Amino acid sequence: MGDRKVIVFDTTLRDGEQTPGVNFDKDSKYKIAKQLVSLGVDVIEAGFPAASNGDFEAVKNIAENIGDVVVAGLSRCVKSDIDKTYEALKNAKKSRIHLFIATSDIHLKYKLKISRDEALKMAVESVKYASGKFDEIQFSAEDASRTDWDFLVKIFNEVVDAGAKIINIPDTVGYAVPKEFEKLVGYVKNHIHDKDNVTISVHCHNDLGMAVANSLSALESGAEQVEVTVCGIGERAGNASLEEVIMALNTRKDYFNLPHSINTREIFSTCKLVSELSGIQLQPNKAIVGSNAFRHTAGIHQHGVINNKATYEIMRPEDIGITTDHISMGKLSGRNAFELKLKNMGYELSRDEINLAFKKFKDVADNKKVVNDDDIKVIVDDVILNTKSFKEGELWG
Ligand SMILES: [Zn+2]
Repeated sequence: MGDRKVIVFDTTLRDGEQTPGVNFDKDSKYKIAKQLVSLGVDVIEAGFPAASNGDFEAVKNIAENIGDVVVAGLSRCVKSDIDKTYEALKNAKKSRIHLFIATSDIHLKYKLKISRDEALKMAVESVKYASGKFDEIQFSAEDASRTDWDFLVKIFNEVVDAGAKIINIPDTVGYAVPKEFEKLVGYVKNHIHDKDNVTISVHCHNDLGMAVANSLSALESGAEQVEVTVCGIGERAGNASLEEVIMALNTRKDYFNLPHSINTREIFSTCKLVSELSGIQLQPNKAIVGSNAFRHTAGIHQHGVINNKATYEIMRPEDIGITTDHISMGKLSGRNAFELKLKNMGYELSRDEINLAFKKFKDVADNKKVVNDDDIKVIVDDVILNTKSFKEGELWG
């Protein structure tokens, strides 16, 4: 392993939005995109422009306003999708079309109802049609992990020859296991044309809880790009979680030695924002950002941590942006302290939400001497849920 940099491709706004029940509007998408820039991701997959007018507008808005980061849009291998994606991305500083077509026999036969040769032809023609319209072309072989390896290499080589410079190996249904996936990535890498100019990417799903492990195995095997989502949200059981992949690379730098451009101190506030805007609560035992991730309960553990944190903590909370502010909140705490507390806890609330939360906080403080972070979390979650149900009555009502 050398010092090549891992390219972090974030698909929170595309695959993450495919989480059941999640729908980011244009403003939410832009808010998250801005935070992803602060976090330091290399590529933002902003959406699927041909999927709906709303998503087209959201992707276009990000492309036009976000600045230097690469903005990607997903597209099927059909002309009308490519045209829509072009319209959405044409004003981006750096645009990337993300073309995909299924390549496994089961998807070809039962979903697309076409032969391997037909899929190959559609892929190559689409890459050629997209050439010149985007700064970069990425091609994904959907369900790659269940695709015949030789056919996979064949389709990759033909799209590379046609002009795709990033090829993505998705474990679309979360079926792969780490050692096998590592071999697959190595196989593709060894058989691909123009090796030095082609970036190999992976996209793993978490159906068997192995998305992060598979992604890390792929990076060990020479993949250069990893596709992730904040908090691991996404279709079904979700995607490889950005914060878990990155903190594994950091915490085990001695093992991986793979640099990246993520500013880990922005992780916590990014997760908070995505959790708030998606309405998805983080499970308490969620790795890295769950509310229990840095809590020690067993007496012997507490004793160890008090003497030396490294006894039971492999990461420091402040490295992911959790600040221990030592601000004790109670009924004498004023509005400024309350706002600072919210900020330190990673919340970004509207004026109205802060007003409402402060009022509830005062009610709680009247009955409780010390209002701890957990109490404040309950207050804020309640406020967010209520303002959401007001805005989206039919959804939550
Ligand atoms: Zn996916």
